[in-house]
Amino acid sequence: MAKNDVRIGIVCECGNEFQEGIAGVELEAHEFTCPACGKSDKFTPEQVSHIVEQHKAAVAYGFEEARKATSEDLQRGVRGSKDLNYRPK
Ligand SMILES: [Zn+2]
Repeated sequence: MAKNDVRIGIVCECGNEFQEGIAGVELEAHEFTCPACGKSDKFTPEQVSHIVEQHKAAVAYGFEEARKATSEDLQRGVRGSKDLNYRPK
């Protein structure tokens, strides 16, 4: 999934509104930069849980829940599922 498949509107302290692609990013660690004033910021924990709530279905990676689901998939894969595309690097 490309990062820009899921976008979220952000309102900067300077009042500028912009869209940030968040698909596949670690929300808690992700830094975004306001295109108007150049200020870098991160999502607050409240914003993170709000975003998770809103984009649960769309955001495939980066969240604890998704990580759990993924490792469950991998465990199923280890048990011999032929439907799994996971290949270790
Ligand atoms: Zn700004």
